Amino acid sequence: MKEKLQTKLTNLPRGPGVYLMKDSGGRILYIGKAKILKNRVRSYFHEAPRRDLKTDVLRSKISDFEVLVTDSEMEALILENNLIKEHRPRYNVNLKDDKRYPYLKITGEAFPRLLVTRVLKKDGGRYFGPYTEVKLMRQTLRLIRQIFPLRTCGLKLPSRRKNRVCLNYHIGRCFGPCENRISEEEYGQIAGGVGRFLAGRKVELLKELRSRMKSLAEAEEYETAARVRDQLQNLEGLIARQKVLNPDMADRDLIAFSREGVDACCVTMQVREGVLIGRQHFYLVASKTSEDGELLKTFLMRFYNTAEAIPPQILLPSKPKDEPLVGR
Ligand code: SF4
Repeated sequence: MKEKLQTKLTNLPRGPGVYLMKDSGGRILYIGKAKILKNRVRSYFHEAPRRDLKTDVLRSKISDFEVLVTDSEMEALILENNLIKEHRPRYNVNLKDDKRYPYLKITGEAFPRLLVTRVLKKDGGRYFGPYTEVKLMRQTLRLIRQIFPLRTCGLKLPSRRKNRVCLNYHIGRCFGPCENRISEEEYGQIAGGVGRFLAGRKVELLKELRSRMKSLAEAEEYETAARVRDQLQNLEGLIARQKVLNPDMADRDLIAFSREGVDACCVTMQVREGVLIGRQHFYLVASKTSEDGELLKTFLMRFYNTAEAIPPQILLPSKPKDEPLVGR
């Protein structure tokens, strides 16, 4: 073993962290996390070959490594997930085409818009998805735009410039914030309703709309009350057509997993307030020797990392690797 590598092994930290195994060309082969970095990384270089084929193949290719120290094992788990996503090492499990899947985004502007995007940013927006069934997502988008007509234009609002409402206003697809035909507060409540709709909180949304309509009518704000009444009626019509799956009205995700060699597929079903609100499928690519638990762990970390909300119950087909940490 080279002297430089030996020195690195001697000086390994004892705490938790992430390690990156590299080949002679500096390419990252594998990224893992450890509770005690010193023990885990050394095991790749010192232990006799084991029955774990993946580790044995990896060992024969490793020329160098890098470690990143974290404050806790949980932090290491999150960092490991982010680094795998960024570098997609050959010997880790990866989600196939995960950059392709679109999300619905409620922008963080004063008068928010509902957009389709494939890029997640920390910009104050709320993201829903990913949607692997794009056709279904487009249908959802159309439906939302009928019930909650958020603006679709790119104007910077509020604005001191004199804007004119466009056709969307005249056909009832926008309330015309560009011409101050709706207050920021009322518009914000509509945008909030879109968020609740996308999160599957329809019963809560109905209650809220009913109480808002009542207060508006009492305050003799009849025009606004009529807008809320229309949203309420459309929403009630939609809910009446939905099938209740769980009479307990609980929120839960159901996850199925299937694998054939290096190809695997996870299917997720989201049940909110007892109603199935979404179904997605994701393909994963693994090395032949990756265990099913590792695949499931990678999927769960990746899927819930970007989720708007995590339900109190997630039904899994088997235990993921690092179950206690992932469960947190
Ligand atoms: S009515 Fe005004 S705010 Fe609405 S989409 Fe048209 S230009 Fe934009």
